[in-house]
Amino acid sequence: MAQILHNNGYQHTDQPENAQVLIVNTCGFIGPAKEESMNALQELASNKNSDQILIAAGCLSQRYGSAITKEISGIDGIIGTRRWMDIVDITDKMRKRKSNKTLYHLPDVPHVGKDEKGALRVAIQGSSAYLKIADGCRRPCAFCAIPLIKGSHISRPIDQIIEEAQHLQSIGTQEIILISQDTTDYGHDIGIKNGLAMLLKKLVRAVPEVPWIRIMYAYPGYVTNELIETISTYPQILPYLDMPLQHGNKSMLRRMKRPANLNWVYDTVNQMREKIPNLAIRTTFIVGYPGETEDEFQDLLNFVEDLQFDRLGAFQFSYESQTTSAPLGDPVSKKTKKDRFERLMHLQQNISLNNNQRFIGKNLDVLIEGYDNGISIGRSYRDAPEIDGTVIIEGNLPIGQISNIQITGAMTYDLSGIPSTTQNINLI
Ligand code: SF4
Repeated sequence: MAQILHNNGYQHTDQPENAQVLIVNTCGFIGPAKEESMNALQELASNKNSDQILIAAGCLSQRYGSAITKEISGIDGIIGTRRWMDIVDITDKMRKRKSNKTLYHLPDVPHVGKDEKGALRVAIQGSSAYLKIADGCRRPCAFCAIPLIKGSHISRPIDQIIEEAQHLQSIGTQEIILISQDTTDYGHDIGIKNGLAMLLKKLVRAVPEVPWIRIMYAYPGYVTNELIETISTYPQILPYLDMPLQHGNKSMLRRMKRPANLNWVYDTVNQMREKIPNLAIRTTFIVGYPGETEDEFQDLLNFVEDLQFDRLGAFQFSYESQTTSAPLGDPVSKKTKKDRFERLMHLQQNISLNNNQRFIGKNLDVLIEGYDNGISIGRSYRDAPEIDGTVIIEGNLPIGQISNIQITGAMTYDLSGIPSTTQNINLI
């Protein structure tokens, strides 16, 4: 939306009081995110002057529509997730009209990948960039509101993705992170089998100067032999896979309407580790799903102990209305959820520390993201931005470049090191 507005003559300002149009891109995924979005809207609505227009865009708007305007007065426009590319038309319309009735733009049919009005589907952060390859999700996970918000999975056209990746290459991007709700579903809706593997092979050829390509959000059961083969063949594709598993007990997974074949998980993780040297696997779990017993939670701990994931995130179950699990309510107490969350994270801390200690004495390529007072900070292939660890390095190293680092220390989530002596590093 920011790009389309910019291309149509709108300028951004960091000061809300200077803006003629205020846009909040909301999140409607789980409770805390919804609260944050509502607070941002409330604050702007309370402080805006009569000449300003306030628009609530994004997932919360798509999911709750007029319920938001009932709770917060002063919102002039609501634009959902299906046609965010209409933001300029909607904004222009609101600025011209006389009435102060809220304008709702919530059409059902998405335009993702078909007419994005020239917006690059990338989010650039320093020398890394997220590149969206699809939108929406067709999986039936009982706890999840995303399919309600985003609709079913739509793959973006390959040519468009390649073009955007080439643009990222031309501006010196060092890491492209492929994202969508389920990257392993890429291509299914446009008749391509093994679409993610195919896309990766095309990307590798199209952007040879981008050293790192990272894959997020794989769906269990859909990590194919061809995908494993592709990751293991091309050095540009990082040996990193984020595969949210959500639980380690079969009955829980069935109740969550998730793939429940745990043998597949054990076999595939082992196969991946065999074929992709030094593979880092990230996963996420939910604790406190309705009906989760202590025994079932214990199975999750055993599963985590068995598979020794490199990176692990956990969520405490968040009740979401209109989801398949909504009729189950939210019977596990907050205290139990918190306790299970802490036990799971405590177990993972030991696993993570052990994994990290194995890197002491080894060399890792690290993408430098900043420095201060003689200490640089960066990420290795094992670290996706914001959610994983970092590498802390002695010396001020060039930001946005990949440096070879000798690892000298390990903490629970982070590593520390010094520039490798085998390379000629420009210390600045
Ligand atoms: S695969 Fe992910 S986005 Fe899709 S329904 Fe399941 S949890 Fe939600």
